[in-house]
Amino acid sequence: MGTRVPGVVIVGASAAGLAAADGLREGGYEGPITVLDEELISSYDRPMLSKSLLGSKEDAEPTPLRTMEQLQERRIDVQTGHGATGLDIDRRFVITNYGEALPFRDVVVASGARARPMLTTSGTLIPTLRTVADLGAIRSLAASGRPVTVIGSGFIGLEVAAALRSRGIDVTLLGSGSRPLHGVLGDAVSDWLLDAHRTNGVDLTSRSPAVAVRATDTGYDIELADSTHRTAELLIAGIGAIPGADWLVGSGVELGGGVLTDPAGRTNVPRVWAAGDVANTLDAHTGLHRRTEHWTHATNQGRHVGLNIARGRAEPFTAVPYLWTEQYGLKIHVLGERRSGDEDVVVEGDLESGDFVLVHGADDELHSVTISGRLRALATYRKLLRQGASMTEATSAVTPA
Ligand SMILES: Cc1cc2nc3c(=O)[nH]c(=O)nc-3n(C[C@H](O)[C@H](O)[C@H](O)COP(=O)(O)OP(=O)(O)OC[C@H]3O[C@@H](n4cnc5c(N)ncnc54)[C@H](O)[C@@H]3O)c2cc1C
Repeated sequence: MGTRVPGVVIVGASAAGLAAADGLREGGYEGPITVLDEELISSYDRPMLSKSLLGSKEDAEPTPLRTMEQLQERRIDVQTGHGATGLDIDRRFVITNYGEALPFRDVVVASGARARPMLTTSGTLIPTLRTVADLGAIRSLAASGRPVTVIGSGFIGLEVAAALRSRGIDVTLLGSGSRPLHGVLGDAVSDWLLDAHRTNGVDLTSRSPAVAVRATDTGYDIELADSTHRTAELLIAGIGAIPGADWLVGSGVELGGGVLTDPAGRTNVPRVWAAGDVANTLDAHTGLHRRTEHWTHATNQGRHVGLNIARGRAEPFTAVPYLWTEQYGLKIHVLGERRSGDEDVVVEGDLESGDFVLVHGADDELHSVTISGRLRALATYRKLLRQGASMTEATSAVTPA
């Protein structure tokens, strides 16, 4: 398979890995690019899984990230079903599940993350949603039309709950805090989101985390931290993700909450880079490592690393953080990162209409912006965040009509 001339081997053919390949070509790299992915079907739009694809009764497939023509034109060799099982940094090989030793000049680790597993007391895995195969399993559950309990009220839990409701399924959401996504969105937007779920019929009455799940004859018995119990017919867990870095344990690449990199995406091993959900990257501004699990970040960081490799540079990655989520047809965008204790100020529109801009910050420092509806506002506030604008500037900004 693939090339035997040392080129760039990218592990993971998703947002970060494919963007790294594009960045390499864009930056003028002409050598071989091999992208390995352990999934048989890879390179698809993962965010669709918990939105349109789960929300519809049609069995549509996710959209591929690249066409065969695009890959051929850019001479990107994607090898699906080929997992990296190890990295030999002395002889510079990536080892695969087929026992192949692929020589590399540079490696980009873009192996993303996998769903944090949750087991019943008898050791059975509770379904989670990360891959197209997971979607198939959850669709089969949903096809029964029976009520579903979702454990976890983070992005995935909330989106899964909303998608199942749109199929008319009764949903109970067991979160662990009083307000969903409070840390990211702040009081006002979090309450607004909570209302959207309640209005759409999600049972959100419990606010205590699940501590044990027992399989019963009719489904499950869930023990909560406050010692109460809930029963469920069907269960889905959305309790976070863990970096897909196990294959690098012992390789010499420094790990710690993911693959540790400098702001440019370089690991401690020369010519070994990382990007996307797996990368725990040093933030040039704060001096802290951060692992980000969002699509646009993975794409932008992947491309950035590809460009750095192609150009022989080590430019720091400094894009303004961005994420979006979609629930009940509402698309919420977040730029920057809200900090605990930030004040939340509505600067455009209002929450009732679902059309708004809120800025979050403290001590006249702007930290993040939440936008719903007003797409034009994204450019305005991205620019302000990039410029390090103050809350005063942000509250007086007006998006051109
Ligand atoms: C259901 C769902 C909905 C989401 N919705 C949103 C959203 O609305 N907005 C948003 O900003 N983000 C969203 N995200 C997060 C977003 O999908 C991720 O941040 C993004 O996919 C990360 O891209 P990545 O390329 O770093 O990793 P991944 O997409 O995780 O891809 C990693 C790839 O590496 C492969 N791989 C792993 N280990 C190996 C190995 N050892 N060898 C070879 N291949 C390997 C995997 O098979 C996978 O294809 C969502 C995630 C999920 C699961």
